[in-house]
Amino acid sequence: MQRAMPPPPDLKPMTPDSDTAAPQPHPPQQDTLFPHKLTPLIKARLAQPEIARQFIDPSPSADPSTGGAATSAALPAFKHDAVADTQYLVHRGIIRKYHNRILLIASSHCAVHCRYCFRQHFDYTSQTFDLADLPLLTDYLAQHPEIDEVILSGGDPLTLKNRQLALLLEALQASTTVRRIRIHSRLLSVLPERLNKGLIALLSQYRPMLLLVMHINHRSELLPEVKTALHTLRGLELRLLNQSVLLRGVNDSASSLRELSEALFALGVMPYYLNLLDEVKGAEHFYVPDTTAQQIYRDLAASTSGYLVPKLVRDAGEDNFKRIIGLG
Ligand code: SF4
Repeated sequence: MQRAMPPPPDLKPMTPDSDTAAPQPHPPQQDTLFPHKLTPLIKARLAQPEIARQFIDPSPSADPSTGGAATSAALPAFKHDAVADTQYLVHRGIIRKYHNRILLIASSHCAVHCRYCFRQHFDYTSQTFDLADLPLLTDYLAQHPEIDEVILSGGDPLTLKNRQLALLLEALQASTTVRRIRIHSRLLSVLPERLNKGLIALLSQYRPMLLLVMHINHRSELLPEVKTALHTLRGLELRLLNQSVLLRGVNDSASSLRELSEALFALGVMPYYLNLLDEVKGAEHFYVPDTTAQQIYRDLAASTSGYLVPKLVRDAGEDNFKRIIGLG
């Protein structure tokens, strides 16, 4: 399935108090299926290779698909739907892969397009959750009381307007069985001004049941504006976690991962997952072979405190849990 990503909804830069989480303009599109997309903050940091590589495709001559990490013959089969999302759709925008939780494709939009994105081919046009379906979602939760957690994902759920997000959170809170709501977002590290007064008020309101899972791969992404946003979130006493993807040429060393964990911890964010790359077509140049990943992970574990070592995991698609990768 090719990604049929709709055009960005509204490209006006947002003001700090705006209710609109508007993605920012992006450079000329090189690929109509998964165009390049940056925020001004990221655009200003493209001189840093570990940032540029995450958001700009390498030229074929500069970085062949093997990336030098393995021969093309050693690459696994990269797919369009690497984590089998479509296999687990129970309704438009609702993915039920796990026993106790569901994942909502809450938004089809992101502020940036990460070149390794595992949903870069996802059919957002037909498979994004529609707020008009909130009654259906509520019914589904009532019929499945074993679901005690809902993950807001996408796209990026914080591209929703505050009032849309509020409707969603209100409906989930009203469920008698949902105890935790997890927001998976890349947005606050690439467009930190999204944390406007309205969003702060909203997050505060749902604080007891909310977890915010950031997505930061390299310490260089912790820019002063991002640190300020994290400081604000910490002041709200929200539970803050981070997940990274192990990416060749970005963070594929123990020292890089240790620096990230230490910097996150200092900001009140706990390292949660280190995901092996989802083997999605278009992301081949980020591939780190398992044996290399395990060696990096061993070196990380040997060089820092246990609570600063995120779990090394793989979403194998067919499993109903994240597969924890041993040290080998
Ligand atoms: S923010 Fe997340 S969903 Fe959006 S492009 Fe990046 S990895 Fe994909």
